[in-house]
Amino acid sequence: MPISESMVQDIVQEVMAKMQIASDNSGKLGVFREMNEAIEAAKTAQQTVRKMSMDQREKIITCIRKKIHENAEILARMGVDETGMGNVGDKILKHHLVADKTPGTEDITTTAWSGDRGLTLIEMGPFGVIGAITPCTNPSETILCNTIGMLAGGNTVVFNPHPAAIKTSVYAINLLNEASLEAGGPANIAVTVENPTLETSNIMMKHKDIPLIAATGGPGVVTAVLSSGKRGIGAGAGNPPALVDETADIRKAARDIVNGCTFDNNLPCIAEKEIVAVDSIADELMHWLLTENDCYLASKEEQDKLTEVVLAGGKLNRKCVGRSAKVLLGMIGVNVPDNIRCIVFEGPKEHPLITTELMMPILGIVRAKDFDDAVEQAVWLEHGNRHSAHIHSKNIDNITKYAKAIDTAILVKNGPSYSALGFGGEGYCTFTIASRTGEGLTSASTFTKRRRCVMTDSLCIR
Ligand code: NAD
Repeated sequence: MPISESMVQDIVQEVMAKMQIASDNSGKLGVFREMNEAIEAAKTAQQTVRKMSMDQREKIITCIRKKIHENAEILARMGVDETGMGNVGDKILKHHLVADKTPGTEDITTTAWSGDRGLTLIEMGPFGVIGAITPCTNPSETILCNTIGMLAGGNTVVFNPHPAAIKTSVYAINLLNEASLEAGGPANIAVTVENPTLETSNIMMKHKDIPLIAATGGPGVVTAVLSSGKRGIGAGAGNPPALVDETADIRKAARDIVNGCTFDNNLPCIAEKEIVAVDSIADELMHWLLTENDCYLASKEEQDKLTEVVLAGGKLNRKCVGRSAKVLLGMIGVNVPDNIRCIVFEGPKEHPLITTELMMPILGIVRAKDFDDAVEQAVWLEHGNRHSAHIHSKNIDNITKYAKAIDTAILVKNGPSYSALGFGGEGYCTFTIASRTGEGLTSASTFTKRRRCVMTDSLCIR
């Protein structure tokens, strides 16, 4: 069908309207001046949601998925423009992944016992209004993914997003409410405040109508939530090591590790943050990193300069988080071609660029004398976060030993880290990995209460 002038005008108007939304938070669905007002609105919406059938909830979720696909590029661009972190191409992929692979109502199941003494069910019921705190590293991805799961469980949600990503977060929250209204649901299935602060977060955490808080972020926020006196789901920091032993396909390991490490400029908490390689294959691994995977080998002097910039005054420099390898090297006066995507070097595990969760494509390689030494060093580098770890090995005894020792929510074997999110690997997607509190990869069922429903001496029809 040929495109008429009026159709072009309609499209231009739609894009202009979306750009307007992008630059101005006022008048958006689900956005309130006061936190108490936002919670009240989410409470009213939840009263409607809890009366809806599962089928109706799923209709809203289908509409949310459609809108995420349609807006993936806008959300990706907004996220990068607003936070300065990550890259648009990978963020587009992340949004499509959320739309396609976040579980909906199919995750809400019933367990039943039927026998001589009747019928007993365990059903997954909603908590009500959930409070959620979201990071600036995956702002809209987390909000969209959390809402699909929480709504599938019959809840509504109040977000206190990272202030550095408020426009992107508001855009995502508006989309969620548009989807609900279009599918016949209520407004305010997801809400927030215009200016999220620690104070609004505190109001939310202490509010009598918020029974559950899901915190996705660094150690500070998870500790704050777990000290709130409410039930908390704590999705905290990681520092995932990628262990490579002598039985691995070393060439493929190099490719997988760099692909995982550089995805969205290393922003995902699950991404490879350092390598631990056994001595006998460490040189070969470095060879493949440098010859086939667009890595740049930083000299000792360049490592020192990077440390000064990236960890200025011993603190993580936010201006470096989620920047590309080329930009990071530019900050220390090193010019490299556009294809360079990762900075590598060899160093001890105590090196500040190795031991710190940097969230940028800088990959230190720690040499281990043998497999046991590699496990010990990798466990040390994970800092007891119990978050994510990766291994490249064909020895199942080694893999098993590592898995038991490191005890993380995620362990990827022989692939890039993002396969743990269902991207090039089996399984569903989430952007909230409850490492600290043990729920692991959250989904709709995580956001429900188990309720036992017992009928004695009847309804068993066997
Ligand atoms: P951050 O900890 O700076 O902020 C996360 C959120 O917590 C923000 O909304 C922030 O405003 C809020 N916050 C921070 N301190 C708080 C406090 N004391 N009380 C209340 N709220 C507080 O993290 P970030 O830079 O946005 O994200 C990166 C960090 O998050 C990394 O450590 C990364 O590993 C982690 N992360 C974890 C997961 C996971 O699923 N486990 C997912 C994404 C990011």
